[in-house]
Amino acid sequence: MSSRKILITGGAGFIGAHAASRFLREGWQVGILDDFNDFYDPAIKEDNVAKLHGAAEIFRGDIRDTGVVKQAMNAGWDTVLHLAARAGVRPSIVDPGLYIETNVMGTFNVLEAARRAGVRRFLFASSSSVYGAEAQTPFRESAALVRTLSPYAATKIAGEQLCSSYAHLHGMRVVSLRFFTVYGPGQRTDLAIHKFTRALFEGLPIDQYGEGQTRRDYTYVDDIVQGVRAAADYEGPAYEVFNLGGSHTVSLSELIKKLEVATGREAIVRLCPEQPGDMPATWAEITKARELLGYAPDTTIDEGLAKFVHWYQTDRAV
Ligand code: NAD
Repeated sequence: MSSRKILITGGAGFIGAHAASRFLREGWQVGILDDFNDFYDPAIKEDNVAKLHGAAEIFRGDIRDTGVVKQAMNAGWDTVLHLAARAGVRPSIVDPGLYIETNVMGTFNVLEAARRAGVRRFLFASSSSVYGAEAQTPFRESAALVRTLSPYAATKIAGEQLCSSYAHLHGMRVVSLRFFTVYGPGQRTDLAIHKFTRALFEGLPIDQYGEGQTRRDYTYVDDIVQGVRAAADYEGPAYEVFNLGGSHTVSLSELIKKLEVATGREAIVRLCPEQPGDMPATWAEITKARELLGYAPDTTIDEGLAKFVHWYQTDRAV
């Protein structure tokens, strides 16, 4: 449907820029609301937006500012993809207040403005970290969200609950999407695959936290965006939660070995203590997303790492 209009908060960031490209390719009108903050080098976000060649309407502003959000929202969007957030577990332990202001109050501001503007569909970027220490692997959407391990995870749980209440009270169709460690071209510089690749090419040590046995369900960004796109057409209950993961796990030491292969370099591993707040393992059960969204991740970790390393060598902004 070429007439559909989507506002992507956080659209200048890693996942947002990929999502914006996909929606634009399909003929949607796309708006981006982003404050281009310096959580990582803002030149990367400027480059992400420049690569959209002026096709998206850009609103520069902070979701903590209700006036800014209201202004961006009042352009007749039928769908909102809410990605803007402070991401990352470890920095949320250092500055929990910033995470709560941005991810909880900011999400409230975006939901409230969307409701007032008559937005019909709202997609919320949640996270595998909501599952905490208690959930059994593979994680199912029905698991109780207890023993939460970080302020970041707590803000994502709060965001989901706000979404649920808005769907219930205001008839807005809302989908929370729990992303599992997303990687690919443009990946955030603070995440393991990006940090390790840089270290490998620069001959610097890789910090391995713990024994290397922690496991992650790494998910290629194009697969995530396929799930997001499908969620924009979802016609089920007013509120729904889906895992978007790759459904395969890799240990930290296996990841380092795979990156050695992908880069052709040998790693210098520096052993560091386990980090408080980190999940011991993440692993998505994706049957629900497969059945109800037609979600079908098909990028293997080896293919995805090869694509990431190619991008790192040929196309990164900084
Ligand atoms: P990112 O940091 O690259 O993107 C987030 C964007 O939001 C950035 O461009 C940033 O400038 C913007 N933003 C942050 N605070 C803002 C504010 N107050 N006002 C306006 N814009 C603001 O991160 P990403 O990896 O693309 O993540 C996107 C979303 O997905 C986030 O909500 C994140 O929590 C969630 N998520 C990501 C992963 C992952 O592995 N990358 C996993 C689970 C969940």
